[in-house]
Amino acid sequence: MGILPSMRNEEGCLDRRSFLKLGSWLMAVPLIAPALAEQVAKDFYTLAPLDYPEDALEPYFDAETMRIHHGKHHAAYITNLNRGLNQDPSLAALPLDELMARLSQISDLSLQTLLRNNGGGHWNHAFFWKSLAPADDSNKPSTALSDAINTQFKSMEAFQAQFAKVAMKQFGSGWAWLIAQDGVLKITGTANQDNPLMKGLVPDAELGKPLLGLDVWEHAYYLKYQNRRLDFVKAFWNVVDWKAVSSRF
Ligand code: MN
Repeated sequence: MGILPSMRNEEGCLDRRSFLKLGSWLMAVPLIAPALAEQVAKDFYTLAPLDYPEDALEPYFDAETMRIHHGKHHAAYITNLNRGLNQDPSLAALPLDELMARLSQISDLSLQTLLRNNGGGHWNHAFFWKSLAPADDSNKPSTALSDAINTQFKSMEAFQAQFAKVAMKQFGSGWAWLIAQDGVLKITGTANQDNPLMKGLVPDAELGKPLLGLDVWEHAYYLKYQNRRLDFVKAFWNVVDWKAVSSRF
């Protein structure tokens, strides 16, 4: 404590005035501490509840997987995204879509990777939950989307087969996507928590407007489907919210 010697009198004791000064300085510490704590722990993003109960997608997506996937995995991406944004709060001012598009411009590569994995994790999961709905035969693609699927892939069945192929080909963890590139539909795959918004990180040919995404990380299906990823992909079609997908198109 460099300030103490100058506050001491000849006997080496604090004089009354210095003692009061030090006391008022110490009194201020509890006022400063919460401000620092708030800065460290700022929650820029929080986990939104699902639009449906955890068991609403049964028997295709089981309640236990939904509970852990949303409540634990997605929550952890948000916690770590917030940790990254606290390192550079100016990035928290960007809408999340913009942050995804500008990740490649972040020069601190360890921060870039943290935000790529966890910002991507948050974006992808939030989008995924909004792409699902309880099974309902009347939930169909709009005429415009249906026409585009038929034009691009010949039929809904052919589209689903090609999407499944990309989902199966993704080695390890990642996502399969239906995207629109200047209004033209395309199926792509990304590794880890990358997504089609990540300009400069994902190849240009795989960038576009995401319409539908499927999480093919093992945590998305292992409890119910174990190693049978294809069964999970087939089950997925029963709970796709085509109304939501169509509205994005
Ligand atoms: Mn996941």
